[in-house]
Amino acid sequence: MLCSLVFQVLLIFAKEDSQSDGFWWACDRAGYRCNIARTPESALECFLDKHHEIIVIDHRQTRNFDAESVCRSDDHEEASVLPLLHAGFNRRFMENSSIIACYNELIQIEHGEVRSQFKLRACNSVFTALDHCHEAIEITSDDHVIQYVNPAFERMMGYHKGELLGKELADLPKSDKNRADLLDTINTCIKKGKIHKIHRDSGDNSQTAPSLQNRRYPSMARIHSMTIEAPITKVINIINAAQENSPVTVAEALDRVLEILRTTELYSPQLGTKDEDPHTSDLVGGLMTVSDEEKPECRGTTSNVHQSHSHLAMPITINDVPPSIAQLLDNEESWDFNIFELEAVTHKRPLVYLGLKVFSRFGVCEFLNCSETTLRAWLQVIEANYHSSNAYHNSTHAADVLHATAFFLGKERVKGSLDQLDEVAALIAATVHDVDHPGRTNSFLCNAGSELAVLYNDTAVLESHHTALAFQLTVKDTKCNIFKNIDRNHYRTLRQAIIDMVLATEMTKHFEHVNKFVNSINKPMAAEVEGSDCECNPTGKNFPENQILIKRMMIKCADVANPCRPLDLCIEWAGRISEEYFAQTDEEKRQGLPVVMPVFDRNTCSIPKSQISFIDYFITDMFDAWDAFAHLPALMQHLADNYKHWKTLDDLKCKSLRLPSDS
Ligand code: AMP
Ligand code: ZN
Repeated sequence: MLCSLVFQVLLIFAKEDSQSDGFWWACDRAGYRCNIARTPESALECFLDKHHEIIVIDHRQTRNFDAESVCRSDDHEEASVLPLLHAGFNRRFMENSSIIACYNELIQIEHGEVRSQFKLRACNSVFTALDHCHEAIEITSDDHVIQYVNPAFERMMGYHKGELLGKELADLPKSDKNRADLLDTINTCIKKGKIHKIHRDSGDNSQTAPSLQNRRYPSMARIHSMTIEAPITKVINIINAAQENSPVTVAEALDRVLEILRTTELYSPQLGTKDEDPHTSDLVGGLMTVSDEEKPECRGTTSNVHQSHSHLAMPITINDVPPSIAQLLDNEESWDFNIFELEAVTHKRPLVYLGLKVFSRFGVCEFLNCSETTLRAWLQVIEANYHSSNAYHNSTHAADVLHATAFFLGKERVKGSLDQLDEVAALIAATVHDVDHPGRTNSFLCNAGSELAVLYNDTAVLESHHTALAFQLTVKDTKCNIFKNIDRNHYRTLRQAIIDMVLATEMTKHFEHVNKFVNSINKPMAAEVEGSDCECNPTGKNFPENQILIKRMMIKCADVANPCRPLDLCIEWAGRISEEYFAQTDEEKRQGLPVVMPVFDRNTCSIPKSQISFIDYFITDMFDAWDAFAHLPALMQHLADNYKHWKTLDDLKCKSLRLPSDS
């Protein structure tokens, strides 16, 4: 690095003479760039412009400068240095205009002070960079004694650097399993070199790292470390480590391996064990597994999935929306928009009204080349097929997800990453994503041997049904077929994108989608910010694979954004989902089916505990990652406030939605 620098020298000489010529030609000979200034003012200006490494000041003519006489005095050589140093000089040169003498002087300065200054500066920059690096870094001596750890390492390990420096990792107390695993991993790596980068093995940090538990703001450190839970991430880390010492051909082959691993479905984490918090394991069991172990033999009963085709709402146009509704919808672009007020004024038909407004804002009719009448008819058919009898999965939830999706689509980075087709697909996917939801989970339908579970082989039962039904309802009547005027290829692309997004809302794939997003979007973005030479442009419009990951993440976040809504709305949603789960438990008991989520028993459930678990397990990491991409400070603040609300209730052993005094 030093060799490639061209040194710059500034000569400050009031007059040109043999001495200034001597330095000038010496610079020429040494290959330095040289400027000459005649006055202090021009010298300062020139220095501020070029930041020369060496400055030579002519003191022979400066009568009133103390150092001058000292400088010329041969008798007091020892004593003469100090005042010069105080004055900011660090070397003096006795008058000698020979080019060789000047050259030798300059070369000595370069190889002595200037180069060591550079090294110090470089060292400082390296340590500043290490200090700010979001990945945990430690530097050890040959005998594995820790010389340096960065703050990310301290956070990851839960030790202060005072406890680490001068020690061997192997000697540190391993107070919990995650730390022990982590220490073992690091110790295994440590034989490979002196500097190691190690991702954090977080385990379940809600249990083991209380200091992280209340942190609700995004941090790339956390994002970098999130995916270690999945075995695939350990594999990727091992390959990364192996690449460091491999020949180029092997490293390149491993790059291709990594590419495959990063984009193939291998990311599902190991699910929790029996000793986990029951709220978490119930939610995980209820939302992420398809059926119970003690699944009964097929009962031959059909579930109570009903094909709702309730009466369509009165036809409306966007222009004759009642004023009370129009007024409410004026605020539709705000995150704090109150969907429950819209539900009330529209008599539980919020989806049609919000849909008309939002679809018009995004130019959906123009894109699809369909009339507003067709769009309205379509929205009415879709909304009519949501069950208004469900506490949670009714058309207000669909409208809420549509609202969140539209909000996300307005964010700069999201907008810049997607095409209009993606926007249209996302709005349609959000609208239909839970259509005809029976108010029961996939596990319930599988356990009950419902028609839908049989039809879809116990696999993504509901999500498959929502998507299939949405297309059936759309194309079966030309009056509501919003796709009727687009060409075949267009239709296929749009259809594919909609199917992909609705299927992405299935919770068994939750970690896969989040981890892929982190690995393919957040990490390359962070690397770019940290100034790596990665040439990829992860969010550019030309990367369809990344656009797919962004769209999946967007609908997933929109689908479960209720913990990020203002407190009152968040509480209402928590009440609704709890009621729907309670109703399922009631029915499971009534019918003698396995109880999928026993904690959701209306007689015993602590709603605050269930919300804390839901946020810890599904929400925090996902929104950290989404926020790091889309920049959503208001949502993250609501999430922090809402989490605090549930914690406060739980600390007071309150099991309901609010303190009795607040309700
Ligand atoms: P979906 O069925 O498409 O709405 O998928 C989202 C999943 O997250 C559903 O299974 C919901 O039951 C679940 N969910 C959403 N919000 C909450 C919440 N506040 N508490 C617990 N589970 C929730
Ligand atoms: Zn949903």
